[in-house]
Amino acid sequence: MRDQLLTQTKRLVVKIGSSLVASRDDGLRIAQIVSIANDLAQIHASNRQVVVVSSGAIVAGIHPLGLKAYPKSIPLKQAAAAVGQSRLIRAYEKSFEKTGDKVAQILLTHQDLADRKRFLNARHTLTSLLKYGVIPIINENDTVSVDEIRFGDNDNLAGQVAHLVDADLLVILSDVDGLYTADPRQNPSATLIPLVEKFTKSIEQTAGLSRSQESRGGMVTKIQAAKHVARFGVSTLLLNGEIQGLLPSVLQGSSGGTFFLPHISPLNSRKQWIAFTLRSKGLLQLDQGAVEALQQRGKSLLPSGILDVKGHFNAGDPITCTDEKGQEFAKGLVNYSSHILQQIKGQNTRDIQKLFGTREYEEVVHRDNLVIL
Ligand code: GLU
Repeated sequence: MRDQLLTQTKRLVVKIGSSLVASRDDGLRIAQIVSIANDLAQIHASNRQVVVVSSGAIVAGIHPLGLKAYPKSIPLKQAAAAVGQSRLIRAYEKSFEKTGDKVAQILLTHQDLADRKRFLNARHTLTSLLKYGVIPIINENDTVSVDEIRFGDNDNLAGQVAHLVDADLLVILSDVDGLYTADPRQNPSATLIPLVEKFTKSIEQTAGLSRSQESRGGMVTKIQAAKHVARFGVSTLLLNGEIQGLLPSVLQGSSGGTFFLPHISPLNSRKQWIAFTLRSKGLLQLDQGAVEALQQRGKSLLPSGILDVKGHFNAGDPITCTDEKGQEFAKGLVNYSSHILQQIKGQNTRDIQKLFGTREYEEVVHRDNLVIL
């Protein structure tokens, strides 16, 4: 299955970690960028479309700005990203010029993907670039997205991009060989896991044990990204990006890295967007009956099953549903504001009409706008 999915890949998103392309002390790692570009050019030449998500802007800006360490304050991180990003893209451009490939720079913020119209615009732009044989090189627009710098990570961005461009494979290149049974730096008997068929608790715990040097999220965010894209039918490959030629040979069926199988019944594009791109504005805590109706019987959410409403949101906003214990299990677009829900929670649907004179919707969240996580 692994070999079949890898060899048949037609469109892949390749996420390149900071440590591969830049170092705090010396700035850009030009030889390494050239090596990765050569590998990607080879893959591109074998009739596959390639989209790159590259980190490294902040690290690449440290040396030119004369900073002694990784910047701590947001303005300095943004300044470093601004200085580093132009250098980073110039290095990619030069490397790909030698292979005869055209590249394009795209800087995205979370808002670009959270707004459905802007999401679709970005999708059209990327599709046009791919049609013209261009390799898009994407990063988060660090200089304007404060949130990204505080919490963001490019593993997540790459997962979102895989959805945006309808990729078949997400490749995450870093300075580690893949997912190990334990942290190989501390435990010499740790072994590489070549194939992950299911995202079990133990896989997620295993990820918590490993760390990569420069990467913001370490293994945890990589596994999260793999888990997200699996839900929309995309496989993930974690691979060491320091080894020249490894990615092209793995795409031809050789062993290497850790491969994560996709989910067998993927979500449609709109549900993927609700589940993984939108950020929840509030929480609805549900009783056991409602949890079962949503989870097992594919029903819509009615007001009678709501125990509690948390946060301030408007009709149309994304919310998360939890069970009685607070465990999150679903996400959806809500038909009523938090203000109204506070008044109708636990009530029968027909009571809404009595309370407000009108009843715009039967359901608080319609099942078409609801995703079980
Ligand atoms: N966007 C950041 C940068 O280019 C990196 C974020 C990450 O490493 O996940 O420096």
